[in-house]
Formats: sequence, structure tokens, C-alpha cells
Amino acid sequence: MNIGAHTFEEFKSLVAAFHGYPAPGVLLGGYMVEMARTALPPGVLFEVVAESAKCLPDAIQLLTPCSAGNNWMKVINLGRYALVMYDKYTGEGVRVYVDARRLEAWPELRAWLMKEKPKAEQNAENLLKEIEAAGDRVCGIQTIRIHSRFLEHAHMGEVGLCPVCGEGFPKNDGAICRGCQGGAPYDLIG
Ligand SMILES: [Zn+2]
Repeated sequence: MNIGAHTFEEFKSLVAAFHGYPAPGVLLGGYMVEMARTALPPGVLFEVVAESAKCLPDAIQLLTPCSAGNNWMKVINLGRYALVMYDKYTGEGVRVYVDARRLEAWPELRAWLMKEKPKAEQNAENLLKEIEAAGDRVCGIQTIRIHSRFLEHAHMGEVGLCPVCGEGFPKNDGAICRGCQGGAPYDLIG
């Protein structure tokens, strides 16, 4: 099954160049992105939220104008292999997820997704074949409306200097920046 305008082999090469290797998750993610895009009205300006930080964000960045850098893609790690794609002005959109009930026909794909067997016992070639053969048939789709704080009119607001670290930050974050509120995932040691 093609992935948008790409054949599976073409997309595999794109994924290898971008992601480092043709990761099964990015290949499956490609079908998920195209399924979501097809469900939206043509020409709509959309944004995306990935519910997993693994692989799925790269499928989104390869196949849509949405990236982490332009902030049209956000990663909210809910630990589910799913994405939502929505009209950036109205918030109306769809959620595409892997439907566990549809995995019965694809044993290698299911074993990989559900981590049913150790990596050494997985058959990488069969896994990619199943991903290509299944396409978006292992996915479900739901209708969603994104919360209003994700819409285009939600601006960053005023920028101030944090009284603790002295760096610029959005004043809406509070009296001090999020880093100094304890959000930084490191200790400064030099
Ligand atoms: Zn600070």
C-alpha cells in the first residue's frame, strides 16, 4: 500500500535518511499520517499532536509541514501509538490510533507492537512486509475537537526576564521561568 504519494520503498528510503534506519514505527506512522490527512477536508491548514514520542513524530515531520521546530506538531507523550490532526483555526479533526482488535491478522506486527517477543526472535523482514500489507487497516479513526488552548489564536504573550536565571521567558508561565520552577531535567554543574 502506498504512503500518500510515495511507494513503500520510497518512503522506506526517506525514513532511513531522516531517522537513521527504516524504523517500523515510522513506516506504520506514515500510514497513520495519511489516514488522518485524508479524513480532513482538502486544503485545510492543520496541526498535529503525537501521543507518542517514539517514531511517530518523525513520520509527521516527513509527510506534513508540521515539525517540532515550527510548533505545528506537538508531542504529548500519553504512551499510546496515536496522533490527532486538526484544523488549526476551528480545532475540528481526527485521531488515528492502532486498533488492537485489528492486529489479529498480522502476527509479526502485533508481536512487535505489544512487545510479545524479544527483539532477537522478531523477524524484521516479515514485520516490514506486514506493515506494508496492512497499511492503515490496523488503525482506527475517531473524531475530535482540540482544546482551545492549542488553537492558532493562543499566543505566547509578553516576554520577560526571569529574576532567577536572567533568561527570557513567557510571562504567562509565572513569576519565574519554567526551568527555575523545577522543570529543567538537569543540574547545572558549571
Ligand atoms: Zn529562570
